[in-house]
Amino acid sequence: MTIRSILVANRGEIAVRIIRAARALGIHTVQVHSAADADMLAVKLADAAVDIGSPAPKKSYLNIAAVVDAAKAAGVDAVHPGYGFLSENADFADAVEAAGMVFIGPKGDAIRLLGDKVAAREVAAKAGVPTVPGSAGRLSTIEEARAVAERTGFPIMIKAAAGGGGRGIRIAADLADLERHFPQASAEALAAFGDGGLYLEKVITRARHVEVQILGDGQDFIHCFERECSLQRRRQKVWEEAPSFLLPADVRARLCESAVALARAVGYRGAGTVEYLYDEATREFYFIEVNTRIQVEHPVTEMITGIDLVEEMIRIAGGAPLSIRQADVAAEGHAIECRINAEDPARGFMPAPGTITRLVVPEGEGIRFDTMLYEGYTIPPFYDSLVGKLVVWAETREACLARLKGALEGLAIEGIPTTIPLHLALAADDSVRRGAFDTRFLEHWLETEFAARAGATAEVA
Ligand code: ADP
Ligand code: ADP
Ligand code: MG
Repeated sequence: MTIRSILVANRGEIAVRIIRAARALGIHTVQVHSAADADMLAVKLADAAVDIGSPAPKKSYLNIAAVVDAAKAAGVDAVHPGYGFLSENADFADAVEAAGMVFIGPKGDAIRLLGDKVAAREVAAKAGVPTVPGSAGRLSTIEEARAVAERTGFPIMIKAAAGGGGRGIRIAADLADLERHFPQASAEALAAFGDGGLYLEKVITRARHVEVQILGDGQDFIHCFERECSLQRRRQKVWEEAPSFLLPADVRARLCESAVALARAVGYRGAGTVEYLYDEATREFYFIEVNTRIQVEHPVTEMITGIDLVEEMIRIAGGAPLSIRQADVAAEGHAIECRINAEDPARGFMPAPGTITRLVVPEGEGIRFDTMLYEGYTIPPFYDSLVGKLVVWAETREACLARLKGALEGLAIEGIPTTIPLHLALAADDSVRRGAFDTRFLEHWLETEFAARAGATAEVA
């Protein structure tokens, strides 16, 4: 079917991004919003808007019945879930389709399969994709956990099968740690994700987080190269790049091919991301999970490939075959994304919502700012603190870093503290400039280099 209207079942910058893609395709947009979001940018940009409930996510953006009812009442052809919220909820995908509309993403069964991180490991292994050494399936007893740990060694990670967003992960340094954390982790996972299932993975030390963008239409499967997302705080990405600049060409080829093999193994439909850890010393990569949705950091891939991933996922959902063949996907230059959050990096990244008194957005070749902000907008305190993504492209990584510095200096968001100072410091840091960082780098850097900088600034003040 040709999709003529879409309900945007999300908020913030990604809702704005989806509306932009829909508009480019001539598609009518209906934006849902909670009572706290009536004046958000996406509501102003969409053709129509529907109030779906109270500010608490459970009462609005996570309320399947409310979202599906809004879509039915609006008479839309399709629903785009964005990221977070219901984007990886298989029951939601099923409910949308049961109501006669198209869910813009994979089928419910594929989300269910790949969203279970233990099942996904099995799918990956069967498709010949290397996984992190660890447990074979879900662990039900501490005895099983102990046996796995004795085989793989410590430190080991206890992970929730249903985890996501950097939550549901603990490290056990030794057996005593494992015995103490295991029951707690299970109880917490049950409370947080409604599923207490756990598995173990050996900790890959000095790993880089590298992930491959995939697209599939159920018949053909392609990759759009990889992203480097090692700069993380609390296992959440802060700064992302494409391509992963230090990856040897042969490793890149094997990595991207493995992601396509996984997509093919499940007959994947839509846009997705296959995440890996890469060990530079051994040149080995290990599968960690699949995200069956558009990813926060998708713009860096768009900048180097020229592919509009959101438009492509809408076309695929409408039943069209992939508009691009693998041979036509070419990567050019380098892109970096900085996540701009309404948080104060000098005060432990405390979320600090408030009113935007002034907004100046940098413009120019290779500069893109995906945002939910406008002057006079008051950020509600109920949701994720991401307010924008500054994305910069240039021919080389060095030129990209130079352009990024200018763009960050040209970006003025007044009225709230933001993470712009953090990104300026990162862009100036020697290790970051050399690309010498792994997934543990940022937290250590925040405690040392950044704390010293902040201390010096405070003294001057
Ligand atoms: P990405 O890989 O796209 O960066 P993240 O893991 O950062 O994805 O998650 C994207 C967004 O979705 C974040 O804003 C995060 O807060 C939210 N999110 C993802 N998974 C969960 C979850 N299980 N529970 C709550 N929020 C989640
Ligand atoms: P989520 O579903 O919350 O995104 P992931 O499994 O993708 O969880 O892991 C999030 C991050 O945690 C990774 O990007 C990486 O930094 C770290 N991590 C996960 N598994 C391992 C591992 N086995 N060894 C070392 N770091 C890991
Ligand atoms: Mg992940």
